[in-house]
Amino acid sequence: SKKRMNVPVHDRSLNSQLKSKMDLTKDEFNIPNVILDPRTRTQYIKGKFLGKGGFARCYELTDVQTGQVFAGKVVPKSLLIKPHQREKMQQEVSIHQSLRHKHIVQFYSYFEDENNVYIVLELCRRRSLMELHRRRKTVTEPETRYFVKQIVDACAYLHEKRIIHRDLKLGNLFLNDQMEIKIGDFGLATRMENDNDRKRTLCGTPNYIAPEVINKKGHGYEVDIWSLGCVLFTLLLGKPPFETATLKDTYSKIRKNEYKIPENHISPESYSLIQRCLKHEPCERPTMRQIVNDPFFSGFTPATLPTSVCTVAPRFA
Ligand code: ADP
Repeated sequence: SKKRMNVPVHDRSLNSQLKSKMDLTKDEFNIPNVILDPRTRTQYIKGKFLGKGGFARCYELTDVQTGQVFAGKVVPKSLLIKPHQREKMQQEVSIHQSLRHKHIVQFYSYFEDENNVYIVLELCRRRSLMELHRRRKTVTEPETRYFVKQIVDACAYLHEKRIIHRDLKLGNLFLNDQMEIKIGDFGLATRMENDNDRKRTLCGTPNYIAPEVINKKGHGYEVDIWSLGCVLFTLLLGKPPFETATLKDTYSKIRKNEYKIPENHISPESYSLIQRCLKHEPCERPTMRQIVNDPFFSGFTPATLPTSVCTVAPRFA
């Protein structure tokens, strides 16, 4: 009887040997180390882990043929079983792949295998304004003008294409090795049918949420202006305008438009732009096109920034 018992045991060990061989080609999340884009027949080698978001894990991907390096967003299909989740993913891809702008993360490809969905994107090696803000707390006015100019250019382009990002925040403002801004993560973005269109719903929790979204009054392009005001405030003053210990208290402050700009900390031009972007009434906020020509940008603005600004304030000579 011992002999008969040995057979299945032997089988099992063979099986596990086979399985460990498979493990050499796939990681614990079932992401292969060599990824094939069947449409373009491009082969990518999976490299360094870059970070994770709600659904996605992000890795460096190197094109075997050209050596070019990209960022690959990998979403397990097991998280996209509900039709609603699939539709949201489709919407993000459909919007993102229609965009081409110097300051928007370039979309290159979208494909899937049996386990995952893959999105190939322009690589932003210098993380985002989130990490820069964490290290630096406040950012100088010339640097802020440099970053905000690029953000506003990209947003003016988006709005002209009738797209609202709806989640502009420091963590979605990526940076490449040249310290250029690249707006990314179109997970909450939406397309407007026409200029008078109002969106009734927003599925998710934007970081810098506008009062009209909280109050479910219908919203439009002005929500991005609101978020831009919050970004500007946070960069210059080191903390977000409506920060409290809880989401409930923050929402209550937003509804009451309760924020304070400490006096003598920032220029009158910055003060004025923040105030106009954070108007409670959406129609009182400036448009992205108007902000492009704002006196805020008349102060000294560096043409480029060194990567050292990720950790220390620059000294403009
Ligand atoms: P999710 O949509 O699931 O929140 P994100 O788009 O925020 O996913 O990406 C998750 C993380 O991956 C980010 O926080 C960032 O660290 C990294 N990442 C995303 N896109 C890029 C990119 N283009 N270049 C470099 N890192 C990226």
